[in-house]
Amino acid sequence: MGLLALTDIQHEIQQLARSYAARELAPLAGERDAQSRFDRRMVQQMAALGFFGMLTPEKYDGLGLDAQSYLLALEEIAVADASAAVLLSVHNSLPIQMILDFGTDAQRDHYLPPMARGEWLGAFALSEPEAGSDAAALRTQAVRDGDDWILNGTKAWVSHGNEAGVLLCMARTDTPGDRQGTNGISTFILTPDLPGFQLAKQERKMGLRASPTLQINLDDCRVPGDRLLGVEGKGLTYALGSLDHGRLGIAAQAIGIARAALEASARYVGERQQFGQKISEFQAIQFKIADMATRITAARTLVHAAAAAMERGERITRFSSMAKLFASETAMWVTTQAVQIFGGYGYVTDYPVERFMRDAKVTEIYEGTSEIQRIVISRETLAAALAADGSLPD
Ligand SMILES: Cc1cc2nc3c(=O)[nH]c(=O)nc-3n(C[C@H](O)[C@H](O)[C@H](O)COP(=O)(O)OP(=O)(O)OC[C@H]3O[C@@H](n4cnc5c(N)ncnc54)[C@H](O)[C@@H]3O)c2cc1C
Repeated sequence: MGLLALTDIQHEIQQLARSYAARELAPLAGERDAQSRFDRRMVQQMAALGFFGMLTPEKYDGLGLDAQSYLLALEEIAVADASAAVLLSVHNSLPIQMILDFGTDAQRDHYLPPMARGEWLGAFALSEPEAGSDAAALRTQAVRDGDDWILNGTKAWVSHGNEAGVLLCMARTDTPGDRQGTNGISTFILTPDLPGFQLAKQERKMGLRASPTLQINLDDCRVPGDRLLGVEGKGLTYALGSLDHGRLGIAAQAIGIARAALEASARYVGERQQFGQKISEFQAIQFKIADMATRITAARTLVHAAAAAMERGERITRFSSMAKLFASETAMWVTTQAVQIFGGYGYVTDYPVERFMRDAKVTEIYEGTSEIQRIVISRETLAAALAADGSLPD
């Protein structure tokens, strides 16, 4: 029995994702990692299960699930393959969510059904080579040309940017002579067929190797006027707001990676013998297993409490950052312990724990580094304490 009180539907989704992931994803995850291979067959399978429309309402061909069902499914996918999990997390939490929240009816009708069906994968292009944590410093410039916009600049680190059919791209719409700060950035819905849209460098990564990460050059890229999302100048607000959602997805991904490491460790300690006994008999090993399990359960509880608050319509910026920070640091710590438990065998590719450790690291970096999460949590905590006359609301 788990700690979370799941509804029947949540339990069903969790079991569906678990059995699919164990049967189809886990067996070849190591091979996909070794070959840095993005697997389109896997995309088709997950599309058939509705995983690309988990949060999309049924009227746009989605499953219309609640956030907790979605996060449970993401965790199960990440246990088997962290690269598949980031694809689902970015697609469902960022571009789909932004079009749902800020798109016109025409934009929703046009983009959401094929995205929910998994025919068009969604990507998120905020970061640039010189603007990562400081996203407001991005330089890609959009200039009006009649009804169109012309975009010039370089977007960096775009997850599955070469596989995406729809990319939400943040670009400046203020002018060099009249910078508007955070109000000078807008969001555009790009598609790869636009003239001047160019895939550039594909990164070679420490982990998450089955998830391609691309630089994209926009070279006089002509974007029709109806591709502007929402209000001009509000793009950074939309992007940062959607990260409240996205960070819960990354937290679920981190928990899945940590759980994979714990499950592999639990199997190994019951098999490996040293000094004439199973290493599970050593208290030093037992304490590691206890701490790994405790941290994973604490992280999951935080993520699902934050998701429940989001479902109630509450502002969750503080809790979403806490969940992402705690879950990602848990994943890094747990996977490092797993490598230690495996000893030398943890350091080589015969066992998957070295992959788990490499995959875990990026959860402390993308969608805001741990340092940025601490800045957000501290700012939000101080503001909440001030607003409540010093006593913090739970
Ligand atoms: C595999 C991968 C996939 C990604 N996918 C996407 C994607 O799909 N879309 C997208 O837009 N981006 C994506 N990113 C980019 C990611 O979000 C950024 O890498 C991240 O925000 C950090 O930015 P940076 O790499 O420029 O680091 P920097 O911002 O240069 O940070 C360098 C260091 O300085 C620290 N630092 C920075 N500012 C502060 C501060 N104020 N106080 C304290 N410390 C600070 C950081 O925490 C970090 O330790 C991806 C990155 C990776 C690695």
